[in-house]
Amino acid sequence: MENRRGKGLSFAKRIYTPRIIGLGVGCISVIGAMYPLSLPGWVWALLLFNGYAWAHVAYLMSTRSTSPYQAEQRNFLYDSLFGGFWAAATQFTPLTAVTILSLIAMNNVAAGGRRLFMRGLLAQAVGVGVAWALFGIRFNPDVDLLEVYTCLPMLTLYPMVIGMACYQLAIKLSEHKRALSALSRIDSLTGLLNHGSWKDLLSLEFHQRQQQHGVATIALIDIDHFKRINDTHGHIVGDTVLRQLSLELRRHLRENDLVGRYGGDEFCVILAQMQSEKAAKIMERLRETLGNYRHPQIPELRISLSIGLAGFKPAFSDAATWLNAADRALYVAKRNGRNQVVTSEDTLTHSTQVVLQLPV
Ligand code: GH3
Ligand code: MG
Repeated sequence: MENRRGKGLSFAKRIYTPRIIGLGVGCISVIGAMYPLSLPGWVWALLLFNGYAWAHVAYLMSTRSTSPYQAEQRNFLYDSLFGGFWAAATQFTPLTAVTILSLIAMNNVAAGGRRLFMRGLLAQAVGVGVAWALFGIRFNPDVDLLEVYTCLPMLTLYPMVIGMACYQLAIKLSEHKRALSALSRIDSLTGLLNHGSWKDLLSLEFHQRQQQHGVATIALIDIDHFKRINDTHGHIVGDTVLRQLSLELRRHLRENDLVGRYGGDEFCVILAQMQSEKAAKIMERLRETLGNYRHPQIPELRISLSIGLAGFKPAFSDAATWLNAADRALYVAKRNGRNQVVTSEDTLTHSTQVVLQLPV
C-alpha cells in the first residue's frame, strides 16, 4: 500500500511542473481568443484560476490523497473538462480550440494511454456542454492574428516540455533496466557472479581461447565438510564462512579474474592468461589463508578447501569438457583426503591409480 502511494506521489511530482507550464501558456491562448468576446468577469477570474492556480491546487489534492495516483487521474479529467469548457467558451475558434483540445489529448495519452484518452474525451465533452449551457452554442470560424500569436507559446513550448518529461522517464527506465540486469547476474549472499552468468563467461572465454590460442585456467573451489560447519555452528556462521571465502577470493585474484559462486559451498574462477602452474600457486595461498582464518566468536572453527584446476587445452571440444576437467580434479582432491589443490594434469595419474587400485 505504502509502495503504491509512493509511486502515485512520484507520478504527481512528475506531472506538477509540466502542468504549471502547460496551463500557464494555455491560458495565454484562451486570453487571445476570449479578448474580443464580451464575457462576464467571473469567466476571466475562472480562467486566471485555471491558468495560474489550478496546477498547485491539483498538486495539493493528489499529494494529500491516500491514493495519489487515482487523485492525479481525476486531475487529468478536470484538465480535460476545463479544456472543453474553454474551447466552447471561445466559440470553437479553430486555432485555439484545436491547440487546447489536441494538446490535452496528447497529455492524456502520454499519462494514461487509451483509457485516459477516452475518459478525457468524455470530460472534454462535459466541459463543452457546460459552456454551451451557460453561453449558448456558438461557432466562430475566423482566426485573427492575435489568436495566432497567443497560441504560439502553447504550440512551441508545451510539446517540448512533454517531450523532455518522456525523455527523462525513458532514461530512468533504462537505468532501472541496467540495475535489474546487473542484479540478475549477481549472487546475493556473496556479491560474486552467479552460476548462470559465470557459465556464460566461461563459454565466451572458451571460444576466445579456441580462436586466439592463449592460455587460461579455471578453478573449482569447494569448502570441506561445510555441512558439518552448518550443523555444528548454524547457517548464519555458515553464511559468514561463504562470505569470508568470497572476500579472500577477491583479495587473492586480479581484478579481471572472473569469480563466481557455482552453487552451495562451491565457487568457480576463470583466470585468463594464466598457466595452471601459476594458478595452482595462487590457489595454494588461498587455501592456506582460509586455513588460518579464525572466527572471532568461534576460535575452534576451521575452514579447509579442496580445489580443482584445469588449464585450457585446444583438444577440449567445448566449455563443458573444460569444466569437467576441473571437476574431475576437484573430485580427486576430495578423494585424496581434501584440503589440497589438484590440477587436471595430475588427475590423469590419479585416475590411473584409482582404476589400477580397483581390482585389488
Ligand atoms: P564435502 O567436503 O564433500 O564438500 O562435504 P560438504 O559437507 O561440504 O558438502 P555437501 O554438499 O554435503 O554440503 C554442502 C552444504 O552447503 C549443504 C547445504 O546445506 C549448504 N549450503 C548450501 N547453500 C548454503 C548457503 O547459502 N548458506 C549456508 N549456510 N549453507 C549452504
Ligand atoms: Mg563442500
